[in-house]
Amino acid sequence: MRIGVFICHCGSNIAGTVDCARVAEISTGFPDVVYATDPMYTCAEPGQVAIEAAIHDHRLDGVVVASCSPRIHEPTFRHTVERAGLNRYMFEMANIREHVSWIGKDRDANTNKAAELVKMALAKLRNNRPLVAKSFEANKKVLIVGGGVAGIQAALDCADGGVPVILLERESTIGGKMAKLDKTFPTVDCSACILGPKMVDVAQHPNITLYTYSELEDISGYIGNFTVKIHKRATYVNWEKCTGCGVCSEKCPSKKTPDAFNELTGVTTAINIPFPQAIPKKAVISAEHCRQLTKGKCGICAKTCPTGAVVYDMQDDVVTEEVGCIIAATGYDLMDWTVYREYGGGQYPDVITSLQYERLLSTSGPTGGHIRRPSDGLEPKHVVFIQCVGSRDKSVGRPYCSGFCCMYTAKQAVLTKDHLPLSQSYVFYMDIRAPGKLYDEFTRRAVEEYGVEYIRGRVSAVYPDGEGAYVVMGVDTLLGRPVEIKADIVVLAVGIEASRGAAALAEKLRISYDNYGFFMESHVKLKPVETNTAGVFLAGVCQGAKDIPASVAQGSATAAKVLALFARDRLENDPQTAQVDTRRCVGCGKCIRCCPFGALKETTIRGEIKTDVIETVCQGCGLCTSTCPQGAVQLSHATDNQILAEVNALCRC
Ligand code: FAD
Ligand code: SF4
Ligand code: SF4
Repeated sequence: MRIGVFICHCGSNIAGTVDCARVAEISTGFPDVVYATDPMYTCAEPGQVAIEAAIHDHRLDGVVVASCSPRIHEPTFRHTVERAGLNRYMFEMANIREHVSWIGKDRDANTNKAAELVKMALAKLRNNRPLVAKSFEANKKVLIVGGGVAGIQAALDCADGGVPVILLERESTIGGKMAKLDKTFPTVDCSACILGPKMVDVAQHPNITLYTYSELEDISGYIGNFTVKIHKRATYVNWEKCTGCGVCSEKCPSKKTPDAFNELTGVTTAINIPFPQAIPKKAVISAEHCRQLTKGKCGICAKTCPTGAVVYDMQDDVVTEEVGCIIAATGYDLMDWTVYREYGGGQYPDVITSLQYERLLSTSGPTGGHIRRPSDGLEPKHVVFIQCVGSRDKSVGRPYCSGFCCMYTAKQAVLTKDHLPLSQSYVFYMDIRAPGKLYDEFTRRAVEEYGVEYIRGRVSAVYPDGEGAYVVMGVDTLLGRPVEIKADIVVLAVGIEASRGAAALAEKLRISYDNYGFFMESHVKLKPVETNTAGVFLAGVCQGAKDIPASVAQGSATAAKVLALFARDRLENDPQTAQVDTRRCVGCGKCIRCCPFGALKETTIRGEIKTDVIETVCQGCGLCTSTCPQGAVQLSHATDNQILAEVNALCRC
């Protein structure tokens, strides 16, 4: 072979603690190396041009670049060598930044270690073989799971780009949390006014098929060719017939159904439409609370419905759809704050969550937009907001910041003054995080124009004062003294957590999730909406805390990824797949059972049971190679020979 070696300085990132020129010099002594050099920035254009030139000038048939993590630049260099006529798999990378220069200060030791890593990469490269991707047709349709603002934006952008969309939402209406908000920071414009038209666009778009009250049951396949099973829960109302007139709800005698849309601040009827702007605006029966379904007596809604839409014996249904890629946009839930016994643990009716307060502020809420105490329906005069309840709190296992609570608390305090000009709001905070456009200005206005009193410090207790109000006790850490504030209502800015069932969904989608259940992006900076499973993208809070502008931006970003993917006539697989040596395979099926992607299947060769790989499905995770007791499965580009060659190169130092 004729191999070229490039030892990157990465400015002073590597060269600060590694003698790159010396590593290049040592490399010239390794077998098959005909050229070695140490550019300043190999990934920059001059660096890439130098690699291409060296391939031509020195007739190289393999290249090693020693630089940063392959997670960042391996695709870059593979394209570089490909442009110069080499197969992209005749390239290897040694990570001498994260694995050497960033973790050790001893220049001599680092230089030697870098040379050893180059030697290992060379040993691997000498065992590499050119690999060729297989191309296949893609089903140019996208499934979006979650119909909050992020999923809605992704759906509209994909649909406008000509891609058919299936939008899946587990509630009976799309809209997510934004549909529950009264107004939105920092412009304080009406949430329904900006979200409503988008929801209507979803309903009317010819490219969007909407499944609400539905969840993803099962998924198989791979990028370009996923088969998804959608579980449609019984609504007990034929939506083809339902006109959303609401007569059923007016007549329904079961009026004590907890109102989930209103965050349990009120009650609704067993048959109901969650809110006036619901999309689709169709009635659903809560089977748990319906007298007909629980006791077999009533039937009033069926009798009063003018279109005969009520169907008490409706069953759940499962439909199958074929799609080419998937966007997860499942958002978040508020954590169970009742673990905070010091705030009453859910026992005090006027200690409520921020989302419940949004419903009290909203005209579509249980009080018609008048702020009233849940306990006695009176107007509060003193409102205390407590931030970071379940955020940045290791004691409840939630060290992360929920991102938007500082801002919505300021918004809610401002709106309180608008609703109740004689009221006084207090905000207990740890520090104010307001980094977005116009955000800092907004929180300042809350203090300067609306007279909201901010108290830096944590609240140690909330307890009833015996006269129908509450005492909020804490410490003002700026003034260094204890404070006690009288409150008629206490609003907790409760921290967020990944939405219910997020981990189970991640398992189905075969994507990773972090310690808290939020879905993991492929690269935190460079691939924020991709996942490690090809063809599965992320939008909105399911990936981490973000407000509406950021969720919308991410929704559009995923749509751009989908449109770019489907702009190609055919897709290509990554040829680093499992290969079965059928002579060694005894057909035990252990690999088939362990493959998380369903990429292995049974086959019969001359009457004997063997295993076969579906190369377009295989993600190259390598589980089967380590599971096979016969050593019959090898992973292309990471074969036993290649890995042992690296290990041997190191051991022979
Ligand atoms: P969500 O709104 O949570 O939507 C996710 C959707 O996915 C939901 O409809 C859910 O039912 C659905 N879903 C979940 N799991 C599944 C599943 N397995 N299958 C099918 N569907 C599923 N931000 C602002 O910018 N301005 C504000 O003024 C503001 N005020 C706020 C006030 C409060 C009290 C709170 C708590 C938040 C506020 N926010 C505000 C933040 C805002 O709510 C979020 O940024 C936004 O809702 C994120 O949208 P999303 O689509 O990612 O998630
Ligand atoms: Fe109206 Fe019948 Fe639909 Fe109820 S089920 S909203 S009564 S059409
Ligand atoms: Fe499945 Fe093996 Fe491919 Fe992993 S490497 S996806 S276990 S076939």
